[in-house]
Amino acid sequence: MFSRLSDKLQDVFKDLRGHGRISEKNITDALRDVRMALLDADVHFQVAKDFIARVKDKAMGEEVLRSVTPGQQIVKIFHDELTTLLGGDAAPLNLTKPARILVVGLNGAGKTTSSAKLARLLKSQGRAPQLIACDLHRPAAIAQLATLAEQVGVPVYQPQAGETDVLKVGREAVAWCDQTPGDVQIYDTAGRQDLDEPLIEELRRLKEFLQPQEILIVCDAATGQQAVNVAEKFHAALGLTGIILTKLDGDARGGAALSLREVTKQPIKFAGVGEKIEQFEQFYPDRLAGRILG
Ligand code: GDP
Repeated sequence: MFSRLSDKLQDVFKDLRGHGRISEKNITDALRDVRMALLDADVHFQVAKDFIARVKDKAMGEEVLRSVTPGQQIVKIFHDELTTLLGGDAAPLNLTKPARILVVGLNGAGKTTSSAKLARLLKSQGRAPQLIACDLHRPAAIAQLATLAEQVGVPVYQPQAGETDVLKVGREAVAWCDQTPGDVQIYDTAGRQDLDEPLIEELRRLKEFLQPQEILIVCDAATGQQAVNVAEKFHAALGLTGIILTKLDGDARGGAALSLREVTKQPIKFAGVGEKIEQFEQFYPDRLAGRILG
């Protein structure tokens, strides 16, 4: 996903390393190129601007200008600032009991798949997840979740066909969870092509009833700035606690990944890195920063 941005950054660093000592002008020129590369990667305008300002602030210090290896020092500054931009430390889930996770997002972002992938990951960590199908708008979603649940060996709650009352489903699901062995409840909710008031209302009611510790939005990294706008709107409506960023394996330019945290102030907690059920991992900002810088 980040190959084009990585290539451009590599060029800038190579150029900087070519100088024995570097001047303020060298740094200014390099940062201008980096800014262009970030914007070209579809990074949010303000995020790119602030990022460059922070790097500049550190890079203009005496330490770098006097250094005999200024190029290396600048790469280190970039690595640290990129890690911070991506959220700093990895953000674990809050799984105090009863651990309830609401998974929200637009259609096609990867909600149903990610709900099952998260269940699989938690199971591999010794948890006993339960999956609950709450997408009453797309009948196929219930069957899809049930198939995935079977694949990962996790119990699943399926509402009656034709059920339209999401609160009723929530109540029944909670009762089912009490009777079924498990310690983390994952609710796969309905999406839309675009966020609308009835969906917000439905999710608000579900949130109020379930009081989930985690509300995770699933964002498709391939949709770039749109993913950032959508996450902002969901956050304003529901108060998110984190982000699942899917399709990081795609060839999109990476702007969403680099802007989401800074714009929403919510941590990216997990990343989808392929269609397969096991292609899902805890999100580590420093690892992605390292990958981007090559
Ligand atoms: P939902 O409408 O939000 O529930 O989306 P789905 O879970 O049905 O996923 C939509 C499509 O995206 C499916 O074809 C998934 O296999 C695919 N998908 C989900 N996550 C990833 C990912 O991390 N990488 C790739 N390549 N595809 C993904």
